[in-house]
Amino acid sequence: MGSQESMRVPPWLESLLSTSFFAVCRIHGDAARSECNMYCLDCNADAFCFYCRSSRHKDHRVIQIRRSSYHDVVRVSEIQKVLDISGVQTYVINSARVLFLNERPQPKSGKGVSHLCEICSRSLLDPFRFCSLGCKLVAIKRNGDASFSIESGGEGISRRVEREEEELREGNQQDIYPSTPSPPANPRRRKGIPHRAPLGT
Ligand SMILES: [Zn+2]
Ligand SMILES: [Zn+2]
Ligand SMILES: [Zn+2]
Repeated sequence: MGSQESMRVPPWLESLLSTSFFAVCRIHGDAARSECNMYCLDCNADAFCFYCRSSRHKDHRVIQIRRSSYHDVVRVSEIQKVLDISGVQTYVINSARVLFLNERPQPKSGKGVSHLCEICSRSLLDPFRFCSLGCKLVAIKRNGDASFSIESGGEGISRRVEREEEELREGNQQDIYPSTPSPPANPRRRKGIPHRAPLGT
């Protein structure tokens, strides 16, 4: 069980999810970009700032954490290179596709919501299984029926995500436009068509 889990969850993930970001760097506190919003997958240690990155993590795999309404998010384009994010709800925020690191507090979801996070029951926009990386991690540890491991490279994953998005779009379109459109009615024109019997000569 334990070894199976370690295959499904990369060693840095739990630490990433429990790290607090956006504190001011102790070394570079006076500089403009001193918020600790970076995380190094190779060092797997604390969050650090822009200047720490260039001095200590130059050739490492570093991901940048962003903030949306005080919650930590990461860009899909960055995280999908190192993690299989399938099943996790993505959002478009400031014209970038992102996902949330952790579950966030929420009001009780209303009735009639069709998609819910399997772990925390947050209502989701699309038919995904989880609201965040954190909830997917819980599912892996609990049931082992999901995985974060990417088999080879990031390209396969990004293509799959694109295809899922396309399918979603197509599905929506089908809802909006029925497949058998009724011919446009134009009663005024029909009225104008002469139906009178030809006048006798
Ligand atoms: Zn720093
Ligand atoms: Zn590093
Ligand atoms: Zn959740």
